[in-house]
Amino acid sequence: MEIKIIGGGLAGAEAAYQIAHRGGDVVLYEMRPSAFTPAHKTSYLSELVCSNSLKSKELTNAHGLLKEELRRLDSIVIGVADETSIPGGKALVVDREVFAGRITREIESNPRITVLRKEMLDIPKGVVIIATGPLTSNGLTESIKTRTGVHNLYFFDAISPIIDGDSIGMDKAFFGSRYLKDDNDYLNCPLTQEEYDTFYEALTHAGRVDLKDFEDVPYFEGCLPIEVMAERGKKTLLYGPMKPVGLNDQRGGGNPYAVIQLRRENEEGSMYNMVGFQTKLKYQEQERVFRLIPALRNAVFLRYGSIHRNTYINAPELLNEKLQLKDDERVLFAGQITGVEGYVESAATGLVAGLSAHAALTGRPFVPPPDDTCIGSLLRYLTTKTANFQPMNINFGLLKGYNKKHKEKAIARALESIEKWGEAVNQLMAHS
Ligand SMILES: Cc1cc2nc3c(=O)[nH]c(=O)nc-3n(C[C@H](O)[C@H](O)[C@H](O)COP(=O)(O)OP(=O)(O)OC[C@H]3O[C@@H](n4cnc5c(N)ncnc54)[C@H](O)[C@@H]3O)c2cc1C
Repeated sequence: MEIKIIGGGLAGAEAAYQIAHRGGDVVLYEMRPSAFTPAHKTSYLSELVCSNSLKSKELTNAHGLLKEELRRLDSIVIGVADETSIPGGKALVVDREVFAGRITREIESNPRITVLRKEMLDIPKGVVIIATGPLTSNGLTESIKTRTGVHNLYFFDAISPIIDGDSIGMDKAFFGSRYLKDDNDYLNCPLTQEEYDTFYEALTHAGRVDLKDFEDVPYFEGCLPIEVMAERGKKTLLYGPMKPVGLNDQRGGGNPYAVIQLRRENEEGSMYNMVGFQTKLKYQEQERVFRLIPALRNAVFLRYGSIHRNTYINAPELLNEKLQLKDDERVLFAGQITGVEGYVESAATGLVAGLSAHAALTGRPFVPPPDDTCIGSLLRYLTTKTANFQPMNINFGLLKGYNKKHKEKAIARALESIEKWGEAVNQLMAHS
């Protein structure tokens, strides 16, 4: 019996290739060219909808390490990207036409893969991988909503930046929740009136991302971009996300004029989220403006803030680490719809979903990659319950046991772990 994959983007093509490569049969449903998402322009599989960069090539960068892990697992997306790369400095940049054209030819000519150009409105029976991306068509979105529950499907993300914990000026910040000083879940970054004035000026004059029509998501009062809130009046932020009340600087600073709260994103405290700082500022502008906050002067941004149209599920609630629905192992999800962010992250979950689905169909055991690897840490992120689940791109803060001081070791460990995992998968898949 074949595995059905809905969506021939980065994740769907990767999943199809992995299954076929292991001897499984696939039917891949792709709605283009009969129907288009608002961002896709061609009928190629794995079309890159925006940038033609797959980000850093360097192993010392988490994006580079993730790509190297995928390369060692024979990923078609990375393999073809390497073959079709064009000069791009430290980034893996591809010729988008040649890249997507080559993937399309490889998938369409694979005797084990049947590509059907058809929009799916329902989730079919049997083993199926849903990889329809951030712009999943409306009909299928309704079916997913019915299947998973309306509260488990999101339509846009309003994301605050995440800062590398080691880059925060701890001498310029203090721990404590509002009215509760003995709590270290929140790290408070105080500003004097003068510092606030400078910050406010920069924020309200900073460059913003130009929106395409379909990206113009409705802003809800609860998650307005910080710069839009600031435009309402100079003091608005002081009654909102920069409210100083109940935050007494125990170091002797008294009551600050304004405070930015950072919330721990993981137990290790290697990542901190800027609470309430969802934004549409350009990435470089986020760095420039937010570094005006004294404790963030040298901040390293692990994730930038954004507000996008994005269809994604509440993965921690719905999925296990094999990317299957917890209540129905025949239905898997892959790609951006799981809550990862980015081309390569989407391909990575496609690779895992493909192998996982093939194992399930052929009655083989499947153990996901360990969480000291980039791929495994993405799966851990997707399946760890949090109060406010939001899309995430790969960064070192996600790796289990990661310590910046021993970065080289963590990189070597990740590569060793993924190699071992790949060998174990090869052995399992080779024998019935
Ligand atoms: C406008 C925009 C710009 C982005 N820019 C970048 C960027 O520059 N860099 C980056 O790393 N990431 C970017 N992303 C995020 C993300 O990495 C990409 O969207 C990526 O393509 C996601 O991969 P995917 O396989 O999950 O989905 P996609 O690549 O979108 O693939 C999903 C596929 O499913 C098809 N489909 C949808 N519904 C159905 C249906 N009902 N039946 C059959 N087929 C269906 C679609 O036609 C599409 O081919 C961007 C996202 C958007 C929306």
